[in-house]
Amino acid sequence: EAKSNGKNRYQFYDKKMTELAFERTTLESNLRKAIQNEEFEVYFQPKIDARVDKVIGLEALIRWNHPELGLIPPVKFIPFAENIGLIIEIDRWMMREAAAQVLLWKKENIVCGKLSINVSAKQLEDDNYVEFLSQKINDIGIDPKDLEIEITEGLIMKHSLHVTSTLNAIRELGISISVDDFGTGYSSLSYLKRLPIDKLKIDRSFVKDLPHDKDDIAIVKTIIALANNLSLELIAEGVETKEQRDFLLSEGCHNIQGYFYSKPLKVNECREFLLNYM
Ligand code: C2E
Ligand code: MG
Ligand code: MG
Ligand code: MG
Repeated sequence: EAKSNGKNRYQFYDKKMTELAFERTTLESNLRKAIQNEEFEVYFQPKIDARVDKVIGLEALIRWNHPELGLIPPVKFIPFAENIGLIIEIDRWMMREAAAQVLLWKKENIVCGKLSINVSAKQLEDDNYVEFLSQKINDIGIDPKDLEIEITEGLIMKHSLHVTSTLNAIRELGISISVDDFGTGYSSLSYLKRLPIDKLKIDRSFVKDLPHDKDDIAIVKTIIALANNLSLELIAEGVETKEQRDFLLSEGCHNIQGYFYSKPLKVNECREFLLNYM
């Protein structure tokens, strides 16, 4: 019995590994074609000021509609795209696409607040990124005050010197800077003094078990106090329940993003959502 179990397991492994190897080689060529073939799609997730129930911004989140494999979430290809350097092209596509869409809404007088774009470490390390940004802002005609980039703590710690000058330059363009997944990066807090940070985004992992988990309560209260004391803006992500929203609101974190208000939406769905919120 043990033997046949072992054999089954081996076959299972073998099959998985073959699939993986198949995926790796095809994934790269598929990814390279995806931009030209218009297989990427921008989804938008609304951010709400819970005090007044108004939209304060939208986070652009990428989706890949693969012709055979269907909808592929970013965790399945963004890390890979980072490894092979393709992320720069993908993030640039996102930036153009999302900004152009938001500008269309603004021209329709649809209130959508600030557009947030996720920017990968590779992109920030790229010497041409600031120039790309300033050029795109001009080309597209979006007000840099309507634009925010989300960067993770891990990124901040890894490349502090280059990142400092790049972030300063981005800030000088008028774009604001938000720390995504705040509290998960094992980093020292000193960067909050050193870098031109505007906003902290409380990570979903601290929100998930609110308002029941004592440790999460303590962590979230501490982040809120930190943001207040440093005059940083604040938002919580991954808010799924009314209980979580009410807790955050009562503690002073009024900017909320998560399934409680809305999942990431396709362009048309998002337009409907925005119209309902005006
Ligand atoms: P993130 O920037 O932290 O984005 C938040 C993620 O949490 C999104 O997953 C979103 O769909 C999900 N989410 C939002 N509200 C809730 C909630 O209430 N409950 C739960 N369980 N999840 C929620 P998504 O869209 O799969 O994106 C995953 C990550 O992929 C993002 O994390 C971001 O780091 C990265 N990503 C997405 N789009 C891009 C992009 O265009 N460029 C780059 N470089 N990274 C991207
Ligand atoms: Mg984000
Ligand atoms: Mg996040
Ligand atoms: Mg997160």
